Amino acid sequence: MHGTLYLILYLDMNICYLQLGSNLGDRKSMLMKALSLIENMVGDVVVASGIYESSAWGVKDQSDFLNQVLKVQTTLSPHDLLEKILNIESIIGRKRIKKWGERLIDIDILFYNNNVIHSQRLVVPHPYLHKRRFVLLPLDEIASDYLHPQCHKKISRLLMECDDMEKVGKYVL
Ligand code: AMP
Repeated sequence: MHGTLYLILYLDMNICYLQLGSNLGDRKSMLMKALSLIENMVGDVVVASGIYESSAWGVKDQSDFLNQVLKVQTTLSPHDLLEKILNIESIIGRKRIKKWGERLIDIDILFYNNNVIHSQRLVVPHPYLHKRRFVLLPLDEIASDYLHPQCHKKISRLLMECDDMEKVGKYVL
């Protein structure tokens, strides 16, 4: 009986990769708050990358970001996961002012298993991930052999081929 129960729970388990970013307030503590809310509301954080610092992408003239990528185990469906991360962003206090603007916390879904999703609210794998060094560097640290389900390339290869010139480095403090 326990064996069956364990199998059902196991089959229900999904692996997702989440990207955290913050460029307002005490950036490192925003990442830590997000990680702890993810543990409580989404599922176990199996691996966390180091923290990276990057200049703002898309909209210039704003402070540098701290970024981190998490590998998370969850029983939530992709759209329930999106609802939870939007909820976590608002708990931490994010206000949506403008696209790619300054933010206390931003959480994106990079991958959800090997699913390819194109709904009105959710696009997975995240459409910009292969264009952004601030995503690929931390992702390469924890999942360099992970195969992008659409490009059919490993993260290490996507990083090698990425022509994003923005500054990104390991954050040490
Ligand atoms: P932003 O906060 O600018 O990253 O945009 C958040 C909105 O992007 C959310 O309300 C989602 O509906 C939408 N979205 C689409 N795909 C994703 C994804 N892979 N991860 C997070 N948000 C997504």
